[in-house]
Amino acid sequence: MLEYGQKLWSNGEIRDFSDAGKISILVHSLHYGVGAFEGIRAYSRRDGRSTVFRLREHLERLAHSCKLVGIPLEYDTEVLARACLAVLSANELREAYLRPLVLIGVGSLGLASGENPTHALIVAWKWGAYLGEGGVKRGVRCKTSAWGRPSSMAAFPRGKLTGQYVTSVVAKNDALRDGYDEALMLDDGGHVCEGTGENIFVVQDRRLLTPPLSCSILPGITRDTVITLAREEGYRVEERLLSREDVYLADEVFLTGTAAELTPVVEVDGRAIGRGEVGPVTTQLQERFFETVRGDDESHPEWLTEVY
Ligand code: PMP
Repeated sequence: MLEYGQKLWSNGEIRDFSDAGKISILVHSLHYGVGAFEGIRAYSRRDGRSTVFRLREHLERLAHSCKLVGIPLEYDTEVLARACLAVLSANELREAYLRPLVLIGVGSLGLASGENPTHALIVAWKWGAYLGEGGVKRGVRCKTSAWGRPSSMAAFPRGKLTGQYVTSVVAKNDALRDGYDEALMLDDGGHVCEGTGENIFVVQDRRLLTPPLSCSILPGITRDTVITLAREEGYRVEERLLSREDVYLADEVFLTGTAAELTPVVEVDGRAIGRGEVGPVTTQLQERFFETVRGDDESHPEWLTEVY
């Protein structure tokens, strides 16, 4: 059972979960899947402080998601940033996952949602390694899904929108049922886009390759973080289309996401990646990543917002 905070932020106020955490079954977003959300992590640090990682970038993406589908969001990034910190403080959480959620509320239940109010909510819960502690250390096994990432003709790949996760949930469940840890999703042209909640990187001859934004991927904030850190470590990083063969024949593969952090992939579709164990480039970048999000590496203070 999820251990969530008993206080949440709802349309401008900190309230009790037992009261504001209940929503009507007439909420428009529940019926048609037009809602925007984010996933943000706060880390507690060795020096006793607690900081949120890339808070503003996540809230800017939330605003973009709302804009893409026309959800009016009356709170700006500054207000939402303060609200996120207030949720952590109200629940006395030092290390947590924050979930801002913007919903179209009760009003019309026809498709036209123009007059319905917007609900902006922020909840927080304790979340360990999304793909398991063992996955972060020893790597995960992935299976390519038969379900593809929707193109920008059919969806809004750059938005983090609730209804867009239907095929991702099915793909994830199918992968788990078949004994894998995660699913990889392709685009209409058969290119490898990403995991169901993570971006993907391939290491080939000490170069990092990752699909471009044009490949129906979510512009991951962890993806951007890892590209920056990898370049600082002297690696060449290229954004280019990847085939399944690029992945099968890679030296190393890893996934990035706020929930999944930086998780190595050691097998895809029954084929061992490299020697089937976590590789040296992944290990180096993973160490740098965790030092950065936990504030032990102080080279990017602009990415950290202090809670306590
Ligand atoms: N792709 C998808 C589909 C996702 O849901 C996520 C998680 N937000 C990501 C990639 C990774 O994005 P981020 O690093 O910003 O969490």
